[in-house]
Amino acid sequence: MPSVFTHEFNTPAYKGKVSFDTGIFLNGKFVDGSDRTTIDVINPTTGKVITAVSEATPKDVDTAVDAAQKAFDTVWGLNATGTQRSILLGKLARLLEEHADELAALESLDNGKTFHWARNADVAGSIDCIRYYAGWADKISGQVQETSEAKLTYTRHEPIGVVGQIIPWNFPLLMLAWKIGPALATGNAIVLKPSEFTPLTAIRVSHLINEAGFPPGVVNIITGYGNTVGNAIAHHMKIEKVAFTGSTLVGRKVMEASAKSNLKNVTLELGGKSPNIIFDDADLDQAVNWAAFGIFWNQGQTCCAGSRILVQEGIYDEFLKRFTEKARSIKLGDPLDPQTAQGPQVSEIQFNRIMDYIKSGKEAGAKVEAGGQRQGTEGYFIQPTIFTNTSPDMKIVQEEIFGPVGVVIKFKDEDDVVRQANDTFYGLAAAVFTQNLSRAIKTAHRLKAGTAWVNCINQLNSNVPFGGFKQSGIGRELGEYALLNYTAVKAVHINLDIKL
Ligand code: NAD
Repeated sequence: MPSVFTHEFNTPAYKGKVSFDTGIFLNGKFVDGSDRTTIDVINPTTGKVITAVSEATPKDVDTAVDAAQKAFDTVWGLNATGTQRSILLGKLARLLEEHADELAALESLDNGKTFHWARNADVAGSIDCIRYYAGWADKISGQVQETSEAKLTYTRHEPIGVVGQIIPWNFPLLMLAWKIGPALATGNAIVLKPSEFTPLTAIRVSHLINEAGFPPGVVNIITGYGNTVGNAIAHHMKIEKVAFTGSTLVGRKVMEASAKSNLKNVTLELGGKSPNIIFDDADLDQAVNWAAFGIFWNQGQTCCAGSRILVQEGIYDEFLKRFTEKARSIKLGDPLDPQTAQGPQVSEIQFNRIMDYIKSGKEAGAKVEAGGQRQGTEGYFIQPTIFTNTSPDMKIVQEEIFGPVGVVIKFKDEDDVVRQANDTFYGLAAAVFTQNLSRAIKTAHRLKAGTAWVNCINQLNSNVPFGGFKQSGIGRELGEYALLNYTAVKAVHINLDIKL
């Protein structure tokens, strides 16, 4: 029997008790994994174990796929109308809303993000996303193509079937919503694997999926490790599509697995090293605030973080002074304390990875303008860190650090900054700060990135597509665009009057 996780929150941000089964969610039930092993879930604020959740195995992936296929063939897929799917998604959105504070507290406990942002970004964004796709479920349609009067030709956008979804730990609930929303709206059945580091909200939401009334097997959520369960999903011969969000390194493996198995359709949302460009004529106070939000928000564990801050030479010194002061003023602490602006990194592994990058920057001769150290002795806290005096070949300039570490780089003019900004194999996002409209638009258009922000950063909406150019990904999530990931287009030709 899977264990029950019980936790009493008694913090200024949230007071209340949570209690739920932590089994893998297979065919509408919460069960142990086939090996009856568990995964410890660690609180990054203390480094201590919160609970243990059931660990799925590749055998459980097979069981989940069979359950999903059966549901798809009998009660879901083409057997459920768009209206029915819309009603269920709408119910799920309402249940998420009813449990919003509880989900935010769980996310905060498990991931280390502040309750404030967990509630106002992760949970609010997830509710919005599921509600948005509830709206799409009864609006999936093909087209009629005018070919000849002797023929009727049209397309259908059919659900693909059983889809695999693999998500990371930085926005556990939000990434789940981005994945299941469009997949369910279009009638697919799901086998989803959350990150082994942050499984709690996905498990809690599995209970809400049951409560909303989705037929058993339509959604299966199985916690397990990447190299076992994730690998089994990516290689599975009966999974027709896999959607992956995570690192570029693992994204490559997922694509390779598709090529080596059944050529399943692959969408990838990967990493970034996004430029944040600040021109001389920017509103400096606003640029400083947004630049700090761009790199330090969510402990810097944001795929589209503005981690390369490019500042025009005329304001460079003043910007750096104010930006450094801002970084030093950020209050680190317990993410469930409303006074806290920055929580711990998600895990010891991630903490060590970031500290290694900081070390490599120092060793390569970059200058630490702020931070550069661990904060405290308990948990995985890292001070907001700013480097200057970098060169383009340094690891801290080239690679995604995925922590609260930014590099500030000087530029001369538009051509210079566009060249520097695009000098990366990533292309997820970019931001431009200027009060000159024509410069803003021209620069935004010249940047090779899937998202370009002007006078803001890290802004996302459920109805606006998000995804990467270059090695930041394939395909788009969110918006109408995401529906394309989950439908197979069939052309139907009907002979009305052609005789042979
Ligand atoms: P990760 O690549 O290590 O893991 C992502 C998921 O893949 C996890 O569930 C993991 O268990 C699984 N996995 C690991 N090895 C696997 C394998 N061999 N086969 C199949 N699955 C496997 O990434 P992470 O550390 O969890 O997340 C951080 C990364 O995610 C960063 O690079 C970040 O930029 C990226 N990210 C991108 C977006 C986006 O929308 N572009 C959003 C969030 C995070």
